[in-house]
Amino acid sequence: MRVLIVEDNTAIARDIGEHLQQAGYVVDYAFDGEEADFKGFTEDYDAAILDLGLPKLDGLTVLRNWREAGRAFPVLVLTARGGWRERVEGMDAGGDDYVVKPFEMEEVLARLRAIIRRSRGLAAPVIRIGPLELDTRAARAILDGRALDLTPLEYRLLSYLAHHQGRAAPRMELMEHIYEGDTDRNPNTLDVLVGRLRRKIGPGLIQTRRGHGYMLANPETEA
Ligand code: CA
Repeated sequence: MRVLIVEDNTAIARDIGEHLQQAGYVVDYAFDGEEADFKGFTEDYDAAILDLGLPKLDGLTVLRNWREAGRAFPVLVLTARGGWRERVEGMDAGGDDYVVKPFEMEEVLARLRAIIRRSRGLAAPVIRIGPLELDTRAARAILDGRALDLTPLEYRLLSYLAHHQGRAAPRMELMEHIYEGDTDRNPNTLDVLVGRLRRKIGPGLIQTRRGHGYMLANPETEA
């Protein structure tokens, strides 16, 4: 899952980013409103964390621009303490939830998980696909009750597929959402990664849809 962090305070931005990476997300940054506006239009994100007080273009305007253009990814708004008006405006501009500064990182992560799963039509933090459970709180996967030993990249791939279960995800889309920005995006590398993950979770769960990509589905419930 790829998340855009929009925050002009670079120390706070990096702090959030490191925690998100540890929690299994790929992270992009924007340090002012114009950069955020641009990235939200040109990149496909699973969520954004958006500070409202930004140089060049304020966060509310960025959010309204995204929504007016139909950019629908969930947005967690960061607001100043006591600014209830700002929180209301943030939600009305298209924000999905908010966190008041100064915040605890655990709260940011929990709210981020919640807005992402709601955007995917999922209700619970543990996603089940047949014998497989993806616990998004701990960034781990459990198969038949046993915790799987996954690399961070394998977890990111599994998490993206689990959040989009039942739908084939094209390889380019998968690569955009699981690889860090500057890494080599070679489809063959992805195929090798899928092969490694299949060996760990069993061959039936990740299906190859010729010309369409990869799909996670419970073979027992598939018609
Ligand atoms: Ca700020």
